[in-house]
Amino acid sequence: MKRNPRFLAIAALMLLACGPEDSAAPLAQAPNFDQLRKTMVETQIRSRGVRNENVLRAMLEVPRHEFVPPEYRAQAYEDGPLPIGLDQTISQPYIVALMTELVAPMPGHRVLEVGTGSGYQAAVIARLVSQVYSIEIIPQHAQTAAERLKKLGVNNVEVRAGNGYLGWPERAPFDGILVTAGATEVPPRLVEQLKPGGRMIIPVGTASSEQVLKVIQKDAAGKVETRDVIPVRFVPLRRQ
Ligand code: SAH
Repeated sequence: MKRNPRFLAIAALMLLACGPEDSAAPLAQAPNFDQLRKTMVETQIRSRGVRNENVLRAMLEVPRHEFVPPEYRAQAYEDGPLPIGLDQTISQPYIVALMTELVAPMPGHRVLEVGTGSGYQAAVIARLVSQVYSIEIIPQHAQTAAERLKKLGVNNVEVRAGNGYLGWPERAPFDGILVTAGATEVPPRLVEQLKPGGRMIIPVGTASSEQVLKVIQKDAAGKVETRDVIPVRFVPLRRQ
């Protein structure tokens, strides 16, 4: 059977237009976020001693690049904090992983986060517990983070604008509390809102350069014990 030469020419053109080189070109330019995230977990987090496999998996699964402003997306998997606007930052990935591990998350837990910021820490811990309550003092960040979490399908985080120095009494008590801003002292209301057996992870220090990450543990009898983990640097926790 003889083919019409015009048909052959059109078929050849179509092949050219849909050819692999052509369609792959724009993709080759885009960063491979999945690969960058794997490298982040191995070189920044596991290598520094985070061993909880559930925490490592959560860090692998949550797309950090969705939580940073567009101009910082390419840096989303680098080893440091990044600006998120209004003088606030998304924490260094290692610190997020460390705090998540230290709070000892269990599937049935209800956890309070103070300082929602971008919503990233909330999204990470949300993969490991049943319910997260996150409170943010800057209403615009609270709203953006809530919308972002919803868009990403994270449906076990409740975000509220308010002063987390006072905790969230209507949702207390909590199995765990993560404070992701630097306090000058441990807020007494937060200790009150911790369940017996619960833990709070909080950076405490007088100046932003001298904060220490603390684990505050309440035993079954309600007795509180504190231990220091590492020096850290967080934006300040506002008292009001
Ligand atoms: N956890 C965030 C990073 C937090 S940056 C993330 O994963 O992106 C610290 C945040 O704490 C800032 O957004 C700041 O506005 C907020 N903050 C400071 N003082 C606060 C307070 N008293 N109550 C609630 N949020 C507070």
